[in-house]
Amino acid sequence: MMFKGFATMRCTALFLLSLMWCGSLVAEQTLVQNQAEYQQAISNVEPGDTIVLANGIWKDFEILFAANGTEQHPITLAAETKGEVVITGQSNLRLAGDYLVVTGLVFRDGHTPTSAVISYRNTETELANYSRVTEVIIDNFNNPERTETDYWVAMYGKHNRFDHNHLEGKRNTGVTMAVVLNSEASLENYHRIDHNYFGPRSILGGNGGETLRIGTSAYSLNNSFTTVEDNYFDRTDGELEIISNKSGGNIFRGNVFYESRGTLTMRHGSGNLVENNVFFGNGADHTGGIRVINGEQTILNNYMEGLAGYRFGGALVVMNGVPNSSINRYHQVKNALIENNSLINSDHVQLAAGSDLERSAVPIDSRMADNLFYSEAEHDIFTVYDDISGIEFENNVQNRASALGTEQHFMTKPMAMSRASNGLLYPNDTALAAFGVARDLQPIQKQETGASWYPKPEVRSKFSGGVETQVAPSQGALAAAIRASSAGDTLVLAAGQYSVQRILEITHPLTIRSVAGADSVRIDYERGALFEIQDGGSLALIGLTISGEKTPDSTGNALIRTQRGSMLINYELLVDSLNVIDLNVNNSFNFLTVSKSTFADRIEIRNSNFARITGDILKLDAENDDFGIYNSEYVIIENSHFDSVQGALVNYYRGGTDESTFGPHFELSGSVLNDVGNGSRNKSGAAILVHGVQVTTITGNTVSNSPAIKVMHTVGEPVTQILSNTFVATPAPEVLELNSAEVDTAIIQDNDYQ
Ligand code: CA
Repeated sequence: MMFKGFATMRCTALFLLSLMWCGSLVAEQTLVQNQAEYQQAISNVEPGDTIVLANGIWKDFEILFAANGTEQHPITLAAETKGEVVITGQSNLRLAGDYLVVTGLVFRDGHTPTSAVISYRNTETELANYSRVTEVIIDNFNNPERTETDYWVAMYGKHNRFDHNHLEGKRNTGVTMAVVLNSEASLENYHRIDHNYFGPRSILGGNGGETLRIGTSAYSLNNSFTTVEDNYFDRTDGELEIISNKSGGNIFRGNVFYESRGTLTMRHGSGNLVENNVFFGNGADHTGGIRVINGEQTILNNYMEGLAGYRFGGALVVMNGVPNSSINRYHQVKNALIENNSLINSDHVQLAAGSDLERSAVPIDSRMADNLFYSEAEHDIFTVYDDISGIEFENNVQNRASALGTEQHFMTKPMAMSRASNGLLYPNDTALAAFGVARDLQPIQKQETGASWYPKPEVRSKFSGGVETQVAPSQGALAAAIRASSAGDTLVLAAGQYSVQRILEITHPLTIRSVAGADSVRIDYERGALFEIQDGGSLALIGLTISGEKTPDSTGNALIRTQRGSMLINYELLVDSLNVIDLNVNNSFNFLTVSKSTFADRIEIRNSNFARITGDILKLDAENDDFGIYNSEYVIIENSHFDSVQGALVNYYRGGTDESTFGPHFELSGSVLNDVGNGSRNKSGAAILVHGVQVTTITGNTVSNSPAIKVMHTVGEPVTQILSNTFVATPAPEVLELNSAEVDTAIIQDNDYQ
């Protein structure tokens, strides 16, 4: 049903009130109910018209919004009611032409069949200009294949705006939003990206998880003149660049970065302005600030608090460049101006960072003035890697002596801080008012961004918010309870013997624990796996004894496995006070087996005992393409015993040479390994194999009668510490640098060899 002429009728009704408007234009508002009606409407559209999509679900709708409005009379594509037009299935939106406006749509429960969900172009030559997308939602609109690459928003053309949109839950590979500068028609574009809510983006575990990228290295000597302001970046954790700036002349102003891993990286391009931004790390791992590379970058009046990031991911990083750098390496920092920034309880400021044989061009003609550094930490927050005489320091203040404390213009003054009404910390001492950010800096609030009518996600633990259900050891009761459970629930198992005949599929976060401890509950199972974690699932197991004795006599059983094939939603596996015994009916029986294109945010094993196992405890080596992809961000094992394990405790593999990730991380402490890794099928030949892991900490363990722990450093700046362990009839740990001729950086100390 169409309402062509609807606006004309309204004009009649409003005729007396708006004579001028009606007299100058017969704007039409056309309500369309289906795709055929949309096609008809768009083919007849005139400047000033609005096409209204009827409320409801629009499935498999590739919207080509190609038309030409005028500055006075844009053409609008709107929802009948904002938020009640939901585009699902294989759908997308392409804008082409001038003065177009799109508003009120929700993209959910689907993915784009093309390379972008929203594209400001139809073809390479049909671009959108002077066009605007506002109050549009893209929520978990992901290609089901995790490694399939697409953008959610690709901006082309010139003078476009993207504002008050809500982008949440991108989980497959690909930058969330890209400003693409691939032709003359998209350079010097004066786009405006403002008041958007960039909602949580989970850790990708590979390259291509940036939230915003402007330009590419090939066009990085060109100006983009894009303004990015008043946006809220909420836990945008995809990879180590939150924003990857790869062009010149851009402005990043007034944005808030909340608990987001990574940095605003001035990767390529010069002459950019970064001002009035606020970073709240709250001490979360790898939260960073601003990384400065290239010439003429201006960093003014930015506030960084509680940023825990280090090295290239620090709160403020000024890089060394490469002399006569090729376009895709590192151009020297020249004429950088870094003034009136506040760095509060942020762990690391890095100057001349990345200094090495290649990156030998130190920062020059630069200035740091009127900045304020306040830290309650014991360590010196500054690290100076090379000659910084090319940075002129003037009128900076810090609360404790540092590597820069002897500089004449780096005053050290103890200070007390108070939080002002704008939520930011300032020194109480009014004599220090000129240092750091201005009093009137007003961080944008989350609710001022995105669409007011679309809820923003809260922070909560995966395993909370559900109910507790008692489960008795009767036949089928556990399987039935799992099927009946909801996200965040806990199943409490009464004492007794549980015999499980089917694979238990975990499709949401679920806790399974005993009422009376691991000795009270014994679970046997009869299939090749007891649990299969499926997309959306997470599992916590507490206080259970699980035996593999009744499993089929076949190779490659597991106690827990992930679903075969891609999982978009990162899972967690938490194990506490578990007894795992007799995974040995046949060979290669693992505790956990994962599939390619699956990713754990966290795998934890605490206070648990494992004995008589023919495979690996954690087999995390499914990503064997060497694309820099891996299977788990954190593996933490604490206070646990492993006895007679023929495979490795962990076979943790991240291959390739890409440097876009903070992880993987591995931590083993207070545990006992006896006879782990001696099986003939253990290809690693190691008790523990960590390959390409970025952070490895092995402390306070006893390892007996086992082959060596092997640590393979590939790329990045791996941090390996093996401290205070006892090795009995076990060779010393081996650390190998696979891509560097330099001596490895591992710290192996205070270990006892018997
Ligand atoms: Ca990257």
